[in-house]
Amino acid sequence: MNSQNGAGNYNSAGGFAAPQRQDMEYLCADCGAKNEIKSREPIRCRECGHRIMYKKRTKRMVQFEAR
Ligand SMILES: [Zn+2]
Repeated sequence: MNSQNGAGNYNSAGGFAAPQRQDMEYLCADCGAKNEIKSREPIRCRECGHRIMYKKRTKRMVQFEAR
């Protein structure tokens, strides 16, 4: 038994590393398509190229426990 092999073996879960990288969801004002735009990207609809988007409030996709 290795005494060093206790913690740090919890990496096989996968897809559980998203602390603060939340994309914002926008709805195109022209065609209504939903776009996920990161905060550094310019706001533009991927479907029609329109530049006016409505911001959507989405807090429901956060599912990790505060720990
Ligand atoms: Zn559009």
